[in-house]
Amino acid sequence: MSARTITLLGATGSVGRATLDLIARAEAGAYDVVALTANSQALELAEAARRFGARFCAVADEAAGPALGEALAGSAIKWGAGPQAVADAAAMEADWVMAAIVGAAGLQPILAAVRRGACVAFANKEALVCAGVLMLEEAARSGATLLPVDSEHNAIFQAFDPAQRRHIRRIILTASGGPFHNASLDTMRQAGPEQAVAHPTWSMGAKISVDSAPMMNKGLEIIEACHLFALPQEQVDVLVHPESIVHGLVEYADGGMLAQLGCPDMRTPIAHALAWPDRMDTPVERLDLAKLGALSFFAPDPGRFPALGLARNAFIAGGTAPAVLNAANEVAVAAFLAGQIGFLDIAAAVSEALDEGARAAGASAAPASIDAVIEADAHGRRLAQAAVSRLAR
Ligand code: NDP
Repeated sequence: MSARTITLLGATGSVGRATLDLIARAEAGAYDVVALTANSQALELAEAARRFGARFCAVADEAAGPALGEALAGSAIKWGAGPQAVADAAAMEADWVMAAIVGAAGLQPILAAVRRGACVAFANKEALVCAGVLMLEEAARSGATLLPVDSEHNAIFQAFDPAQRRHIRRIILTASGGPFHNASLDTMRQAGPEQAVAHPTWSMGAKISVDSAPMMNKGLEIIEACHLFALPQEQVDVLVHPESIVHGLVEYADGGMLAQLGCPDMRTPIAHALAWPDRMDTPVERLDLAKLGALSFFAPDPGRFPALGLARNAFIAGGTAPAVLNAANEVAVAAFLAGQIGFLDIAAAVSEALDEGARAAGASAAPASIDAVIEADAHGRRLAQAAVSRLAR
């Protein structure tokens, strides 16, 4: 069997490292790394490029270029710096691409991989939120395969039988509930970055950890699921499940539900996508259901977690609203991490940006081009920045 050629976008992040860990453990010769990218962690990137024999690596941050060049000196590995270099890495011929850049910064490189018809493993959800329709159109044109890596969507991908689509009543994304699952609004109001990033079950990058706390992550995932599984938002439910063992469920017409279970370790869904349509071994802890004993499920509380409603409304509004939602959230999360606004202000800033955006755009059509998405993203950032300035402590 010939090696599957691989490119990793976001190789130095939580998902990127987990992917490299699996590649390192796989059968010798199973994977052949073509390109690796990062934003600014040049030394870690160069080390991984040498270790995995990559042909090319790129940092998005131009300022990190010289450090990357220096760290690769004496090797045959080519390198580049700047956002275009990252998109170039994605455009290089490789069978399989891990899209693990965080945020809307992933949009252009992911699109480059989709456009050339690659098998793209989607960890990044923001690109689908901002440009889901365009991304799916491009995939249909190029023949690209989109594999969900987000644990919930990966679970649903495994339980969702496309041949039975007409019998599928709804899908359910589970949510751990984050660190504030049981917290009062007062506690949430006082919470700082340290409390917000302390995710109870998953170990993840800073942005997605903060996104999980107000359940904005789940809101983005609702939109991601609507695109990936071609469902209206009414058929995408959310259930709080603090143990994070059941990752996603599909309910069929006969009342039966199919679910996928596993310990909360991203290496399981990543391995599923990496080996797909085959399977591979992982070192992930095995699930001992008898030891676990009980699993619990709760309906989310819309009063304490308004982000879920904001995401649903943005999807229903359509047009540029999801891109504004995502951009505003990125700005608000960064402002929260920088201590400029409080935890509850994240959803408040996003809500304000969405309202302002809707007033400005009226009933806008879905962005017809990637440039229109980028424009909506920039607009969302400006609106959120204005909201942050108003809310700043
Ligand atoms: P991390 O913050 O850990 O890593 C992000 C990666 O993207 C790093 O390699 C980083 O490089 C790179 N990066 C950051 N900014 C840019 C930029 N402007 N241009 C190019 N590359 C950039 O994130 P995660 O691994 O946690 O998450 C990645 C994506 O996967 C997110 O969209 C997240 O929502 C999704 N996801 C993550 C899960 C998880 O368990 N972590 C679970 C499910 C989905 P550098 O290191 O140099 O900064």
